[in-house]
Amino acid sequence: MSFFGNASGNNSKSKNREKYKELTLGIKQTVLERSKNRCQSCSKKLSGSNQPQFQHINGSKKDNRPENLRALCSECFGDNAPKENNFVLSSIKNIFSKK
Ligand SMILES: [Zn+2]
Repeated sequence: MSFFGNASGNNSKSKNREKYKELTLGIKQTVLERSKNRCQSCSKKLSGSNQPQFQHINGSKKDNRPENLRALCSECFGDNAPKENNFVLSSIKNIFSKK
């Protein structure tokens, strides 16, 4: 994996951040093309019922540059960043936390 390799030379492009305030369809397509429509964690194919999820590498949801995004399957996305839509996992956790 070398997605982080050229990040240091891009400081002069900080104005471009304005362009990437929103995660648009075009940005998603760029990320998916780069990952060849596969989960960048487990390499599972993303299509149909396995909808791609987009994770912000630096944690900033206002930074939607393609290099700050990873395409993940819902399983890996849930593992990395538990969300409210991941209610199955959280309900399992609730069961185990009750003693
Ligand atoms: Zn995955």
